[in-house]
Amino acid sequence: MVLSLGSCGSQARVLGLGSWESSNFELRTFTFRLRTSAFRFEQQTLRSQVSSLKTQDPRLISYVSGLASSSSLICMPPALSPKIDPVLLKDRFDRQITDLRVSVTDRCNFKCSYCRTPHGVHFAKRESLLTYEEIERLAGIFLDLGVTKIRLTGGEPLLRRNLERLVGKLSALKGLEDLALTTNGFNFYDRANRFKNAGLTRVTISLDSLRQDRFREITGYADYDDVLRSIETAKELKLDPVKVNCVLIRGVNDDEITDFARFASDWDLEVRFIEFMPIDEEEKWTRERVVTGSEILQTLKPEFDLTPVAREDASETAQKFEISGGAGRIGLILPVSEPFCGNCSRVRLTADGKIRTCLFSLVEYDVRDRMRAGATDEELKKFLISTVLKKEEGHRIGESDFVPPSRSMSYIGG
Ligand code: SAM
Ligand code: SF4
Repeated sequence: MVLSLGSCGSQARVLGLGSWESSNFELRTFTFRLRTSAFRFEQQTLRSQVSSLKTQDPRLISYVSGLASSSSLICMPPALSPKIDPVLLKDRFDRQITDLRVSVTDRCNFKCSYCRTPHGVHFAKRESLLTYEEIERLAGIFLDLGVTKIRLTGGEPLLRRNLERLVGKLSALKGLEDLALTTNGFNFYDRANRFKNAGLTRVTISLDSLRQDRFREITGYADYDDVLRSIETAKELKLDPVKVNCVLIRGVNDDEITDFARFASDWDLEVRFIEFMPIDEEEKWTRERVVTGSEILQTLKPEFDLTPVAREDASETAQKFEISGGAGRIGLILPVSEPFCGNCSRVRLTADGKIRTCLFSLVEYDVRDRMRAGATDEELKKFLISTVLKKEEGHRIGESDFVPPSRSMSYIGG
């Protein structure tokens, strides 16, 4: 058994007792104030527990020791100092934030019908966008607070000039385990090598139709072959697992479900069918247009033998299936029919420096102006911790009081 601790301002939190091997530290949660007699009592208890744990897991001793400076906990001197994930960025529902989605631009060269309107644009002014240095600084603070994965997105992230430079900066940050990119793939193929060399670990490419004419109709972009070439290049460079995002919309592309499964098998990659969400600029979403997971599985049943794959961690958005007798995988991302908010581990940073605690948030928290006004790292840390505590329990799609967010996916960062 080990002890997991976090601290926040004048409070120290014991977040749970659990096995080191399991990542489940959610057995018990209680809070105590520093410098009270109650705390002194707890502190004694903690000290004896920590010292008795010393020989069992020196990583824990090192971790608790690190906390001592910020929370005035007295503990044993560290024997070793390997990285122990802090557990500070937790919300009120005990969900730990480990994933940060960073939108680097709100611009896009596609006009996907389920995302943007073909009429008019209102892009953010250049000076309102976070610079790469600002993103790097915030990412470092998020990593200090326990985030381990960063996904770059947009808008179309490849439209941001020299994105490779940002990838290089982020990949050098301590504590980052996974640096991914979501792109429409329009010119990924000829920059893929540079991204890989800069430290990109994975890529997800969106593709909503395997039919050239339909692809053009959905996206307004003519060069379908560019996207296929990008997928191919990502495979060659082993930016694995290469994932392809396909938003299914009834009456638009739901007749391509089996074609996409064959594509996943032939190309040995993961095609993720995503339910259409009410976050489109045109507000054309209706529940009837959502193709559910059970419909997808029914459609695939006659032709494919699908074996469910266990989730690697609870916060994974996709339910995955291996295609038996071949290669490739299918993923189902079902935020509408089977919401996964209970295990959400994500926060978003918009291109203009707002924190969004949920894709469907109706409020945003401005971190850019704080940073530009001279906030220290410690002040920003406190701000992020308090912002995460405001994370919504879940989206309210399907509830009578549901209000769609005022910005569409391309402005928020999908
Ligand atoms: N431009 C890049 C792309 O398309 O991959 C990255 C940004 S895009 C907003 C990220 C993902 O959000 C894409 O896979 C896109 O298909 C998805 N998306 C956008 N609008 C959506 C909607 N209304 N419902 C479901 N997924 C949506
Ligand atoms: Fe652009 Fe991506 Fe939105 Fe399509 S889904 S319009 S590519 S941001």
